[in-house]
Amino acid sequence: MIPSPTPSPFELYANLPQDRRVARAAGLKHYFPALRCLQGHMCLRRVHDAKCLRCLEVEQQAKKAAQQKELDRATAKERAMQAKERAAKEQAAEEAREAREAKEAARRAARRAAREERERERKKAKAAATRAANKVARAAAAAGEVSSASSAAPPAVLAEPAVELLPLLPPLWGGDAGDDAAPWE
Ligand SMILES: [Zn+2]
Repeated sequence: MIPSPTPSPFELYANLPQDRRVARAAGLKHYFPALRCLQGHMCLRRVHDAKCLRCLEVEQQAKKAAQQKELDRATAKERAMQAKERAAKEQAAEEAREAREAKEAARRAARRAAREERERERKKAKAAATRAANKVARAAAAAGEVSSASSAAPPAVLAEPAVELLPLLPPLWGGDAGDDAAPWE
């Protein structure tokens, strides 16, 4: 006869009393009633509360599983919260960066506008200076001064930057034209 690979409970617990009171009297912790429990286990029972050991094991496993489930749920909740906080922080940082960039762009635009305004003013002043110099030259030509002052001919004067020449013109005019008023006055 081939022995079964796992011994039956009857074989395993043959030396234990089947009666709880007998087991208690013998000072044992377990007994084997050789009856199925309400859950259908054929197993040892504890003397102090008559509970089936297999039932206790199942209860403990269920409790452990429930605890693990609760732990997993709490962990998932915590992680979701952390992810949410991280996303909020990233969003705030991104908005701050965009605000900084917008401010910087506005500053650059203002500087560019000021530079363009200065450039326009400079061109306007240069044009006004050229017009004034031309007016002086025309007045001088009309007064017959061009031929007598050929060494400082008006074309040579006009070829120079008009802005730099402006301070020189009134004395030239005044020196050549005596007490006559300058034409721009
Ligand atoms: Zn049981």
